[in-house]
Amino acid sequence: MKLCSRTFIAPLSLACWLVLSLAGISFAQEQPLRSITYRLAMSRPVSHLFEVAIEVELPKDSKEQYMDFQMAKWSPGRYAVFDFAKNVQQFQALDGICPPEAKCKMPVLPVTRVDDQTWRVPTINTQSLTIRYKVFGNDLSGTFSQLDSRHANYNGGSIFMYVVNHKPDPVKLAIDPPAGWRITNGRMDRADQREWQFPNWDVMIDTSTEIAPDWTVDSFGVDGKKYHVVVHSFGDEGGKRAKLVRDIEKIVRAETAMWGPPDFDSYTFLIHFAADDVSGDGMEHLTSTQIIEPGALGEEGVYGSTLDTVAHEFFHVWNVKRLRPAELGPWDFTRPLNTRSLWIAEGLTNYYGHLMMRRSGVWDDTAFWRRESQTITAIENAGGTRLMSAEESSLAAPFIDDAPHAQRTNLANTAISYYPKGELIGMVLDLTIRGKTNGKASLDDVMRRMYDEFYLKGPNATYYLRGRGYMGADFERVVSEVAGQDLSEFFRRYVRDVETLPYDEAFAYAGLRLVREQARQPYDGGLTIDWQKKGSFTIASVREASAAENAGLQAGDEILALGGKRVARENWLVSLGRFKPGDRVPVSVKRNRRTIQTTLVLGPPDRFEYRIEERKDATPQQKALRAGWLKGS
Ligand SMILES: [Zn+2]
Ligand SMILES: [Zn+2]
Repeated sequence: MKLCSRTFIAPLSLACWLVLSLAGISFAQEQPLRSITYRLAMSRPVSHLFEVAIEVELPKDSKEQYMDFQMAKWSPGRYAVFDFAKNVQQFQALDGICPPEAKCKMPVLPVTRVDDQTWRVPTINTQSLTIRYKVFGNDLSGTFSQLDSRHANYNGGSIFMYVVNHKPDPVKLAIDPPAGWRITNGRMDRADQREWQFPNWDVMIDTSTEIAPDWTVDSFGVDGKKYHVVVHSFGDEGGKRAKLVRDIEKIVRAETAMWGPPDFDSYTFLIHFAADDVSGDGMEHLTSTQIIEPGALGEEGVYGSTLDTVAHEFFHVWNVKRLRPAELGPWDFTRPLNTRSLWIAEGLTNYYGHLMMRRSGVWDDTAFWRRESQTITAIENAGGTRLMSAEESSLAAPFIDDAPHAQRTNLANTAISYYPKGELIGMVLDLTIRGKTNGKASLDDVMRRMYDEFYLKGPNATYYLRGRGYMGADFERVVSEVAGQDLSEFFRRYVRDVETLPYDEAFAYAGLRLVREQARQPYDGGLTIDWQKKGSFTIASVREASAAENAGLQAGDEILALGGKRVARENWLVSLGRFKPGDRVPVSVKRNRRTIQTTLVLGPPDRFEYRIEERKDATPQQKALRAGWLKGS
């Protein structure tokens, strides 16, 4: 980043004066532009092309020779690199700005494509300029954008370029919707609003927006804050929307009870029931969340899954969006993000999302035990669980957070996700702190103290947002402070190393125990199936040192027959279940147009299931600790 020296010597340089005079602020920026206005139109929804204009007014004495416009490579909350520039077309630069309703003839400026994400426009002798481009979007997702005949739903990072060196500048946004379509987002001051002012580009792209003729909104209030539940349903709601809103309110009450009042006036849950069996996502923002369910609200399982996502995303209001790792904002969108702390940011949010389902009363104890048991089963059976630590998993986020892979990988055998791993670290750490302090302190206290120290009371470290980000070591320090004893050994063994978490010790504090038993799921020989590949029985991955690997099977093989009989992916486990450990089962697979015969020598069952159980002999003290944990005291 450029330092302030050039503008510092110029008198009345407001930007630099502001930068240097605010105590504790250690960043600098270019002289701000006089104005940056984004105009978004969507005149042909069926084309899936968003029409973007960026109008820029340069400072009167600007010496800048050119201006760069850049499309982000990824967007906050999802860490895989997607290169949004690939969907940009018809980039054009014009000298001047034309008032919205007027017709102007503006000279066309030459444009140089500098690299894969950057367009350069000369600005010598230019007072103002207008950029125009179209960007294709046809994915209903918290990361991408969709424009079609039903609606426009966008994540700003995937459609709005930023002006290089001017991300800190204030920006204006004006949206021109198709006739009859209504706009909504988490920053509505009035119902028919079409223009917004944002403190900077980062906050503008944090404001996911929905534009359609037929979304619904239900509202409620908690502790003087307004909450809106916007729903756009593409399938039958089964009359469940009113109950959904009531249960969302219960979750909001449980989470605000833990954290205290959130730092906003109003918040919007923007929920889509896509009814396409494909689109599913949850994405956190400062004053809203975007939740997309692949089913219809009226369908089995969709209701519960929506609330589960609501509990997770709303927790992000504090953990991630405001209390954040130092690397999470402002961001460098020219390369993937690296932080060691996603197990805190996402993993602890996963833990608390589930705990809040219990605290809100939406789940009972059994539902909570079942969910945590499933997470333990998943992590303890994962190929990478003894290879990849929670910190390493955080650093690997660009590879594992929904990343597409053109090159084949061995991640199924080597990686774990920081979501479930962080969830289990959170649960075990919470019970450990509660146990070691006889229920007087908890992870809740750690989170509140972190929020206070880094968000509420931390000096503003950057232009982006209040407070400053934390480092992993800060979290570790606060945990030990709250626990009243040094817990650095816990972090060394279970966060930076790959040792099995001390489940037994942790659960014992709450009068619970963890039972390990042979999995009920049938023996699979070490194979997983590619369910995406329609109409064929193809191997997705082969577990290391498994019967399948010993037989020479590999990912991409299409299984034709097992034990001499034709099998399909729906019934192959039943066929395999007819054999016992030690049996030799002939297998034929198709690989590269050839049919290959091999033999699967079945091993002993190697999958285990875990179950959290209440101990009959739990002491009153253990029961009290458990009650405090589940109720939030
Ligand atoms: Zn919609
Ligand atoms: Zn999350």
